[in-house]
Amino acid sequence: MSRGCSRELGGTDRDRSSPARCTLTIAGEEDEVVAAATQHAVSVHGHQDNAELRQMVRDGLKDEVSV
Ligand SMILES: [Zn+2]
Repeated sequence: MSRGCSRELGGTDRDRSSPARCTLTIAGEEDEVVAAATQHAVSVHGHQDNAELRQMVRDGLKDEVSV
């Protein structure tokens, strides 16, 4: 699984403190990715760590596809 940090994670009124660009990509097991992306959203983008945020992170997960 992988999860790019896109700015939908930072799309709140606190978004002003976010970096102008964020190109972070996290890869790993689903739970690891969700945990790491949640931490990132909290520490970098100023989100509250709650169920809603985790759900948003989980919704953005992508299966890693090798072609
Ligand atoms: Zn980010």
